[in-house]
Amino acid sequence: MSYCGHPGLMPIEQALNAILTEVQPVTKIIEVALIHCLGKVVAQDIVSFVDVPPADNSAMDGYCLAIADLEKTVDGVLPVSQRIPAGAVPEPLTSGTAARIFTGAEIPEGADVVVMQENCSEHDGKVLLPPVLALRDNIRDQGQDILKGSVVVSKGQRLRPQELGLLASVGVGSVPVYKPLKVALLSTGDELIEPGEPARPSTIFNSNRYTLRGLLQALHFEIVDLGVVADTFEATEKALIKASNADCIISSGGVSVGEEDHVKVAIEKLGRLNLWKLAIKPGKPFAFGDVKGTPFLALPGNPVAAFATFLLLCRPYLLTKQGVGNITTPTFTLPANFSRKKAGMRQEYLRANAEVVDGKMMVNTYPNQSSGVLSSTCWGNGLVVAPIGQTIEHGQEVIFMSYSDLLY
Ligand code: AMP
Ligand code: MG
Repeated sequence: MSYCGHPGLMPIEQALNAILTEVQPVTKIIEVALIHCLGKVVAQDIVSFVDVPPADNSAMDGYCLAIADLEKTVDGVLPVSQRIPAGAVPEPLTSGTAARIFTGAEIPEGADVVVMQENCSEHDGKVLLPPVLALRDNIRDQGQDILKGSVVVSKGQRLRPQELGLLASVGVGSVPVYKPLKVALLSTGDELIEPGEPARPSTIFNSNRYTLRGLLQALHFEIVDLGVVADTFEATEKALIKASNADCIISSGGVSVGEEDHVKVAIEKLGRLNLWKLAIKPGKPFAFGDVKGTPFLALPGNPVAAFATFLLLCRPYLLTKQGVGNITTPTFTLPANFSRKKAGMRQEYLRANAEVVDGKMMVNTYPNQSSGVLSSTCWGNGLVVAPIGQTIEHGQEVIFMSYSDLLY
């Protein structure tokens, strides 16, 4: 374990590397109807068996013709020989004529330009056209979007709405995807009661369960929710055995070394556990191991720490396990609209808000960065990374990660 500002603390990169080297991605492939494919991960390259568009078609409502035919006229007038709405199969264009055509309609054989209707006037079955036309103007070429035989979506791609549309556009009705991970979730702590129950002395409402469920749902995993596990060895052991039927287990709380922290002891009996002290804030205690061969990620109990460690460690781990090809999260450099006089011993993930200040994009931080203050996560739109041992001056460039990238 390397030194990182504070002896004995593990840098986040080292922890991430350690868990990622152990990932065994899912191999089970299922065929899923396109309509149910949002968020699924494609298991093999999808090749188009059609050109898109399938034929040259009109980008405008107007008239199509052969430019050479117009050049032969003295008055710029051609008879209109057919009407081609979208969806109609056109006849080849009669030589020396124009055809009325509409947006999306197939260009008839023999036409090499479309003139928008605003530039034409039609009377008694004849159309007056403008004198100068450019070849293939307003014609969308066959295959300009996708060529038959090309890969439209690659293996390892998570399907976003736009990929669903693209797959639909090439006529794919179902997709081979990796079977969604089944993630077992458990919350530990005798102090926890469920939202909806009446508040009682010495209790707090279980918030991690809802944050973590939401995070897992946003990533389109299946959840096996084991609810709250009491702070006893027996209850913890029983819950873990049940959880080990899933593909992966995530818990919150109970992984420190206090007498009421039973997760460590139970796992050491059922499998293997590495308890790390991460050089990050929030989120120092984090454990990784397995229960009867099922990978186990134990998050801290403090609500903001559970949120942050999920984003920084569980998310890349789970996405890799799900077969996602690229798990990098974009980062942005923005000037700080705040200052930090004290340099930290751990890398901090400050709850932040990127916004335009006097016409310039800047990033601000929530005033209370305590790991129990869940409001900080709802206030802004991302996280600022405050590196170990560094102060931050107002206006200095800092690294920002957007929740739009982290939460999907
Ligand atoms: P622990 O890691 O179990 O010592 O918990 C650390 C702190 O997080 C304590 O203040 C707990 O009450 C709190 N905590 C643990 N689990 C939850 C939870 N599911 N929801 C809200 N707070 C929690
Ligand atoms: Mg606890």
